[in-house]
Amino acid sequence: MKKWQCPVCKYIHTGDEPPEKCPVCGVSGSKFVPLEDDTAAETPEAETPATDEKKTVAPEKKAANNTETPNASPLKTEGRAMVYMKKTAELMLKHHAHPVTVHIPNGVIPVAAALFILSWIFGSPLLAKAGFINQVFVLIALPVVVLTGVLEWKKKYNQAQTTIFKLKIGAATVTAICCMASIIWYLVNPGVLESSWAWVFVVINLLMLAAAGVAGHIGGKLVFKD
Ligand SMILES: [Zn+2]
Repeated sequence: MKKWQCPVCKYIHTGDEPPEKCPVCGVSGSKFVPLEDDTAAETPEAETPATDEKKTVAPEKKAANNTETPNASPLKTEGRAMVYMKKTAELMLKHHAHPVTVHIPNGVIPVAAALFILSWIFGSPLLAKAGFINQVFVLIALPVVVLTGVLEWKKKYNQAQTTIFKLKIGAATVTAICCMASIIWYLVNPGVLESSWAWVFVVINLLMLAAAGVAGHIGGKLVFKD
């Protein structure tokens, strides 16, 4: 049985023909690259143009690499800060900074939502305050999560614009907007959960929880490919 690899997310399909589209990232099956053997699967980036189809993919890869070449060997005109930034980006990718940092909002958002709902049910301003403090930590973590996410999307997935990535970016945007809306609302009116608008505030928080869940689910799909 032949093996085919998705050029975007590196998913491997086994069969005589490539799939109609990638079940993980949704890229068209015509873009799939045939793999020669199991060793090829382990090192998909290796420059071994064994077949014609691989050759057709190679120029794209080269073009993508060309834009990165100046980064790899910094010119003298390039500032020291720039070099450090590139090094940091490389390290973040290597050590999976995105899945690591994303655990902060993904862990704290459900806690914040639960505290707000409990505050609403029991009429406790203290629980609302606790929810708010949790949410501030989400807000602090979000820029790092978004930055590392964009970095992975650019470097690892060549900024692929398939449905799965659009959904992920959309979900992250909804999460960030809901988080800011909730924080600003609480700052303006700390008694919001005792007002008649409490349900809207809770809905915003549930929406944020759902959006973060969607983003996390897609992330898991991309990482584990199942
Ligand atoms: Zn794919």
